Amino acid sequence: MLLIAVDQFRYDYLERFGDLFGPNGLRRLMHDGAMWTQANYDHTPTYTAPGHSTMMTGAYPAETGIVGNDWIDRASGKRITSVSDDTVKLLGSSDPKEPPSSPRRLLSSTVGDELRLVTNDRSKVIGISLKDRSAILPAGRHASAAYWLSNTGTMASSTYYFNQLPAWVTNFNNTKPADKYFGAKWERLLSQSEYVKRAGPDSPSWEVVGSSTGDTNAFPHTITGGAKAPNSAFYFALDHSPFSNELLVSFAQEAIVNEKLGEDDDPDVLTVSFSANDYVGHRYGPYSQEAMDITLRVDRQIAALLDFVQARVGLSNTLIAFTADHGVSPIPEQAADLGLGGARLKAPEILAAIHTALSARYNPQGRSPDPSADYIYKYNYWGALTEAFINGNIYFNYEALKRDNVDLDEVSKVVASAALTIPGVARSFTRAQLLRGETSITDPIERRVIHGFNPARSGDVVMIAEPYKYLGDTITATHGSPYSYDTHVPVIIMGTGITPGRYLEPASPADIAPTLSALLRITAPSSATGRVLTEAIRKGI
Ligand SMILES: [Zn+2]
Repeated sequence: MLLIAVDQFRYDYLERFGDLFGPNGLRRLMHDGAMWTQANYDHTPTYTAPGHSTMMTGAYPAETGIVGNDWIDRASGKRITSVSDDTVKLLGSSDPKEPPSSPRRLLSSTVGDELRLVTNDRSKVIGISLKDRSAILPAGRHASAAYWLSNTGTMASSTYYFNQLPAWVTNFNNTKPADKYFGAKWERLLSQSEYVKRAGPDSPSWEVVGSSTGDTNAFPHTITGGAKAPNSAFYFALDHSPFSNELLVSFAQEAIVNEKLGEDDDPDVLTVSFSANDYVGHRYGPYSQEAMDITLRVDRQIAALLDFVQARVGLSNTLIAFTADHGVSPIPEQAADLGLGGARLKAPEILAAIHTALSARYNPQGRSPDPSADYIYKYNYWGALTEAFINGNIYFNYEALKRDNVDLDEVSKVVASAALTIPGVARSFTRAQLLRGETSITDPIERRVIHGFNPARSGDVVMIAEPYKYLGDTITATHGSPYSYDTHVPVIIMGTGITPGRYLEPASPADIAPTLSALLRITAPSSATGRVLTEAIRKGI
């Protein structure tokens, strides 16, 4: 079973660029597989880790516990990532400061976990990506291995899976697989006019790649990171190019051969997540020539992977799912230019409005120092004390509230009301409201907030911006909202038992795992709440 995910791939890319795809990549999946044209994530925030945690668990972040790429861990008081784990060691990186990762924060089982349970571990389950979270989360807690690209241009893993890397991985790393792309020129795959027609000019004013990246807004992009020889700046630049996805395909092919995936009667699981599309999309936006080109290139890279699987295992023996972790919003400046209401809600301004409301309620006499000044939790972030406003969530400082005898529910209401006075904030929810079910599950935005809220890990107040507005984000283009441009993604399943076609029934990436489980005739993952996509399953299967 093969899961192919592309990081930050909107459903409409299949339609905008589909006629330019080659025959053996995405077009093969669209033609020979069942494609759901109306598949949306039913949670927010729509980020990489929550999306990847949903694909193979069939569960929302409320259940998987993966509520963001990062969040505030109440137990340690620290900002942690979805996969950070100090109890394991990183393998395969030559940077001693690079942090190790594991799936320990994932609370649900995956399709791979369930398969290994029923085959007494004979099934191999391997996750591969450029990003640690995108390799680790789809594979699951009982996976055989997960591999991701280290800061030093090699494929890394951690002692969560084994004490040392398999020899084939070390051999792969010894070839310095990233370094051969040093100085590579990223040119357009097709003629420039095709890009102007579909994506507009190459360097519009809203593309703002600073010179510090060692790159420019315009083609061709020369991949050096501004360095004279391969170093961390170059590896960072490589992430922001289609060449890192190419490296991923060659590693996936090595994994298939060396781990003998698909060779015996017990089904194996390989998950491959292409991350470069996300890095490029963040830098240039969804309507850029670069986003268009990396979409055409990932199609060719997926074709190479599918051709390889066809030659080694046979596509008729392989169940394949294709999806994405989230979409992306237009760059706010572009959306403003088009009259769509694009704007950036700046974090310092949001926090200032909240502090004003806190002072008015808890320090009406204007005492100095203001006792409410530390009501929002502060944590150490890269050496600076930072207020905990993350993923649109405000986390309170429980000790300060206790000290002043301030009721959590009440202070949450004060902040939630203040948030609604900020221009561009559409909704706000308090922890108590979400926990007591005082929200309406029939309201699609509220439902998505509930599905993204985990009591132990989410904040105390959740804010949602209006469409096309970024909540505290300064990056050129991003995602995270409950709106279509972030939630509407491809869902394609191809393989024995599936009737090919375009399906317009509502669907979600959360439906992939229950559907695969039904086809594999195994128990669905522990928290799977998605539905089996029965409309495409052949009778008698
Ligand atoms: Zn992203």
